[in-house]
Order: sequence, then C-alpha cells, then structure tokens
Amino acid sequence: MNTQTDNNNLFADQPWLDPERSPFVKIQSLTKTFGSFTAVSSVDLDIYEGELFSLLGGSGCGKSTLLRMLAGFETPTSGNIFIDDTDMSNVPPYQRPVNMMFQSYALFPHMSVEQNIAYGLKQDGIAKNDIAERVENMLTIVQLTQFAKRKPHQLSGGQRQRVALARALVKKPKVLLLDEPLGALDKRLREQTQFELMNIQEQLGITFIVVTHDQEEAMTLSTRIAVMDQGRFSQIGTPTDIYEYPETRFVANFIGSANMFEGRVVENGADYVTVKTVGSDLSFYIDHSAAVRENTAVWVALRPEKILVSATPPEEQSQYNSVEGVVDDIGYLGNFSIYKIRLANDKIIEITHPNQSRPKHGSHLAQWEEKVYLRWADHSPVLLTK
Ligand code: ATP
Repeated sequence: MNTQTDNNNLFADQPWLDPERSPFVKIQSLTKTFGSFTAVSSVDLDIYEGELFSLLGGSGCGKSTLLRMLAGFETPTSGNIFIDDTDMSNVPPYQRPVNMMFQSYALFPHMSVEQNIAYGLKQDGIAKNDIAERVENMLTIVQLTQFAKRKPHQLSGGQRQRVALARALVKKPKVLLLDEPLGALDKRLREQTQFELMNIQEQLGITFIVVTHDQEEAMTLSTRIAVMDQGRFSQIGTPTDIYEYPETRFVANFIGSANMFEGRVVENGADYVTVKTVGSDLSFYIDHSAAVRENTAVWVALRPEKILVSATPPEEQSQYNSVEGVVDDIGYLGNFSIYKIRLANDKIIEITHPNQSRPKHGSHLAQWEEKVYLRWADHSPVLLTK
C-alpha cells in the first residue's frame, strides 16, 4: 500500500514515469525540410499534461521550427502531432488548443493593459461580464492590477512580458507555447521572472512548452528538457539527468562546462570501468558498469565543481582519480572562483570553488604557479561513448 502511495507521489511530479499515463502532446517522426535543408529531422517526443517542457539548443538547431509546427504556423513535411489525442494534421492554428507567446510580445500599443488582455476574448464573442471577470483574474495572477489602465509604453520590459503572458493565458489554452519568453529582459529581471513564470504555470496547471537557447533558464524552469542539435534531440531528461548524466559529448559541453578527457577502456568490471587517458598518466575509476568493451576509445567528462584541490599531497596515493598540476590562472567571480590547472602534458583542467570565506580570511585555495593536487570521487566522472 505504501509503495502504491509512493508511486502516486512520484508520478504526480514525474508523469513521464507513469506507465498508465498517456502523453498530452505526442510528436511522431516529425520532419520539416526547407528545400534540401532539413530543419527538424524525424523527432519523437511525448509531453505530459502540466509539464513545463523546454526545447533547448543553439541558434539554428530547429527549435522554433518545431514550436511553429505545434502551433500550426508551419506544415510538417512528414510525421504527426497529436494534442489531447487529436491528430493536428488538418487543424488550422486558430482551432488548435494551443496559444503562442512571441518573444516580441506583439502588444497593441494604443490599447491599455486590460484591453490588450481582453482583446482575444472579445474576438471570440465572449460575454462582457465574463470578459471583465477573466481579465481581472488574470491581472491578479500576473500582479498587474494596479497597471490595468496603462499603455504598453508606460510599462517596464518585465511588466510587458507579463501582459503578453496574461493575454496568452486568458484564453485558457491547453498548451501554451513560449518562444524565448524572457529573451527581451536583462539578466536580473530574467532570473526574477523565471520564478514568476514557474509559479503562474504551477498555479494554472497549463502545459508550457518553452523554446530557449539559455541553458540556465531551461535548468531553472523545466520539468524536462530536450537538448536539440541539428534538427535532432541529443538527450531528453530532467535538468538533473541532463547535467549529471549527459549521454553525449555535445550535451556535456552544451550544459554547463565539463573537462573532457580522451581515453581507452582498460578494465570493464561488473560494477566499475577504468579508463587510461591518451597522452598522460591520468586514469579514471568510474563506479558503475557500462556496455563498453576493453580498449574501446571513449571520452570522460568531469564537471569543474566535482574536483577537490589541495596544496598538500594526499595521504593515500591512488593510481586513479587524482592528478598533480600547477595553477595557470585564477578568475575571481565573487561567489566562486575559477582555477585553471596545467597538467604535466600541458592540458588545462578547469575547477570551480565556492568562496565561503572572504579573501583576507584565508580562503585562497592556491596562488598562481603553485603546485596543487587534484582528486575526485569515483562517482564524479561521466563515461561517454558518443
Ligand atoms: P534561433 O534560436 O536562432 O531562432 P532555432 O533553433 O529556433 O534558432 P529555427 O528557426 O527553427 O532555429 O531554424 C532552423 C533552421 O531552419 C535554420 O538553419 C534556419 O535558417 C532554417 N529555416 C527556418 N525557417 C526557414 C524558412 N522559412 N526557409 C528556409 N530555411 C528556414
């Protein structure tokens, strides 16, 4: 009985794990070509009701094209999209249960905030009283009640973004598509607005699909992320999966930063793998099994914050997961510092270290040109075969 309750709790937060749930948005073998160029290449994706799902990738990877096909503004070359079990092939944009919020916001400059929000409902012929109630409710949700009579040019960037959001949400779409929703905001406002967006989404329970090139934004906002590269998905997973368990070199490099080591598998044990790096004595011990043969060429990724630095040699010498180097560069960023450590073969390893004490109080980890000893836990390195 407890197991059942535990499963229900788990599935409430992670519906994609529930074998009995069917996806709300189902994308099957979807392709879009422009002439001889393939912008989206046979992608499959399931998104569940209430998710805040991000499509993340660099410029030109195909994320906006995918979003536009969901909205119905772009016709797929092949493949299918189902929303709430209905095939969207012959459904025009205005009849789809989706609404799109554009990066430019596209607010009507001559209309007040409340008129902007009410516009779509008026077009749909909704009764006046009903419109007034829904607009008021939306103004409360996006915290703009006191700005209801203002025009867009009398608002800040963040406030305009919230008007656009309210205007898209007031029509109660089942799915809201957001193309770089925070792109027009400066860094500080963007961070603050990310949390507002999450709160609003949670409050309304509407499925959000967000296109962004900003990995921090995707990590903060999303239930799950699809990392896109050249029209395909490199990996789909929770922010933790994608950061801690990247499956490809592309994902490991694109999300956060990673030190990459080229090597060969020496031993493949029942619950561990060892890898000797190319051109140095450094060897990795990785504490899980993997489907790789001995002597296979592989890559190992190691996140900068997983590396421990010491100015004194470790008490116990180990042939694995440790290396010596010299401090080549130090970058002080306030909350943490970046140390670049040069190894004997001139390879540079990047390390991040939180500045828990103020510099005068002895928090300096090491000085330029100082010899340091690096080590990391057996569960820190990530073995990559592609
Ligand atoms: P960005 O973040 O720069 O907007 P994106 O990932 O959203 O990038 P898309 O807009 O989906 O990229 O475009 C994917 C690729 O398809 C790009 O190389 C783009 O030049 C191409 N493309 C998009 N629309 C068209 C079109 N109408 N005709 C021809 N090529 C197009």
